[in-house]
Amino acid sequence: MDNLITCDRCGSDACYVQEVNENVKLHFCYGCGFQANTAMTRDSEFLQQQMEVLPELYKELMGEDENGLIWMPSVVNIPDKGMVFADGPNSQKWAWAGVKAIPMPEEEKAKFKEKGKEYDYKMDMTTLTHFSERDFIEALSYIGVLPE
Ligand SMILES: [Zn+2]
Repeated sequence: MDNLITCDRCGSDACYVQEVNENVKLHFCYGCGFQANTAMTRDSEFLQQQMEVLPELYKELMGEDENGLIWMPSVVNIPDKGMVFADGPNSQKWAWAGVKAIPMPEEEKAKFKEKGKEYDYKMDMTTLTHFSERDFIEALSYIGVLPE
């Protein structure tokens, strides 16, 4: 990947930068698992909106780097693979959680269909596994997003 830069948060060289448009760049670090968005600065409306919906843990873990970028833990949600998110009671005691997706059982599929919804997969919470803070990549690999 040619868009990898050094992460301003953790110093790893696995920070992926994606240009959304002229004014907005997303930073997604595979090293620390955190992400930042150039539209999400300290006084932005975007950040305020995020603060209303984010779990407490995400707010606690949020931090600003020396360039004023605000970093928060990533949420990876890939319907046919699984999810990775930060999980735990507080910023002192948290871990990455990996949950695998499984094909939606026919019975449940039918129930959703009655409500006009269609899902082929669901998250299987029995597969929830925790990975330490520095093992974001391991968590991704657990749900099959990265090659082993
Ligand atoms: Zn990083």
